[in-house]
Amino acid sequence: MLFMEYLKEVEGKRVHDYVQVKMGKMTRAVCVAGPVIVGAGPSGLAAAACLKQKGIPSLILERADCIASMWQLKTYDRLCLHLPKQFCQLPLMPFPQNFPSYPTKQQFLAYLKAYANHFDIKPTLSKTVVSADYDHRCSCWRVKTEGLKKEETEYVCEWLIVATGENAEEFVPQIEGMDEFEGPILHTSSYKSGNMFCGKNVLVVGCGNSGMEVCLDLSNHNARPSLVVRDTVHILPQQMFGKSTFGLAMCLLKWFPIRVVDKFLLLMSHLILGNTAQYGLHRPKIGPLELKNLYGKTPVLDVGTLAHIKSGKIKVCRGIKQLAQQKVEFVDGKTENFDAIIMATGYRSIVPTWLKGSDMFCEKDGLPRKAFPNGWKGENGLYAVGFTKRGLLGASIDAKRIAEDIEHCWKASKTTQV
Ligand SMILES: Cc1cc2nc3c(=O)[nH]c(=O)nc-3n(C[C@H](O)[C@H](O)[C@H](O)COP(=O)(O)OP(=O)(O)OC[C@H]3O[C@@H](n4cnc5c(N)ncnc54)[C@H](O)[C@@H]3O)c2cc1C
Repeated sequence: MLFMEYLKEVEGKRVHDYVQVKMGKMTRAVCVAGPVIVGAGPSGLAAAACLKQKGIPSLILERADCIASMWQLKTYDRLCLHLPKQFCQLPLMPFPQNFPSYPTKQQFLAYLKAYANHFDIKPTLSKTVVSADYDHRCSCWRVKTEGLKKEETEYVCEWLIVATGENAEEFVPQIEGMDEFEGPILHTSSYKSGNMFCGKNVLVVGCGNSGMEVCLDLSNHNARPSLVVRDTVHILPQQMFGKSTFGLAMCLLKWFPIRVVDKFLLLMSHLILGNTAQYGLHRPKIGPLELKNLYGKTPVLDVGTLAHIKSGKIKVCRGIKQLAQQKVEFVDGKTENFDAIIMATGYRSIVPTWLKGSDMFCEKDGLPRKAFPNGWKGENGLYAVGFTKRGLLGASIDAKRIAEDIEHCWKASKTTQV
């Protein structure tokens, strides 16, 4: 039975929103006419807006009690967009003209709220999607959620758009002696400002954009930060010739091969920042853009941290061997006392925990690949937005493509209904 027939049958019973009893448990069931979008972050909002513009209704399910929960709840106070605003705006509504090139977190949040208002997007909040399964019998997705009181609801829809982000869950590596360490160990998602660390020795683990910026914030608040740099890292100046490095790179890529652009970026970085290796920040053998393309590893855009490293306000350490009460032992044998540890160790997606079959492998270009995310479009009306490691720009591109794709089926199904 096709989804539309199923919907009619359900409508025949005068229920759009009905209660079913499964294994003694009451589950509310809701039939959704358009796509269900999981996640009300920038990606989910962008997808809903693009659909709305095409006259297609959608329903967003969000586990938090607000939109853009990562930006509202899990980011530090001094955060500004890492990339210039023209690469971060969502489809169909540019940033206000008076916003600076790198909007603050508060400005970005104000923009997202205005975006949701403008497109009249009202996500269903405090609903965590706990499973999503494709029902071949009725050609539809069955998306189960849990509410705050563990109440279950099943949403039935023809299209499922996953917009839960690449940062759904904090990643914290296990380090020997972690339980023994007496000071606080927190993830950057709980870090707000350096003011509570004034005068303290703080170890920041991880040298991505967040780790570098948290170190700068700590240093500005008169803490004594040390940065653990285990791997190689590309640090680029945020601006070159008064233009954003990212924008310049995008422009050059239109004319030159990636390796040529990488060579140019590295030469300029050397001239502007000097040899970062002499401060313990060794560069990978592969250039910054090629590395991002091949492995998704984002280069660090320096917002002033390097100057504090050069002046000795921020120390650079090797990888951690083990922790003790107050002590940290590094792989080079050095030991030092710390009052707190901040893990800037990133996030991961948790889609495989709830999307059935997403941990399986399929073949693409003759190579085995994870079934999810396999680009923006999967099988049986499954879509993914914001999973291509290209930030907000990538999410916007995905959202537009998805809306166009669904529009074809939407129009076709409307024609057959007439
Ligand atoms: C500190 C930081 C700064 C960044 N700066 C930039 C930048 O300047 N430019 C740029 O392009 N990119 C940037 N990024 C990367 C990326 O663009 C952002 O992470 C962006 O928020 C991704 O949007 P999203 O909607 O895909 O995911 P998120 O913002 O993570 O939103 C996903 C939503 O899904 C919800 N969710 C997750 N699981 C479930 C579930 N099972 N059920 C229901 N809801 C669920 C979450 O609660 C969340 O609200 C930054 C990332 C970080 C961490």
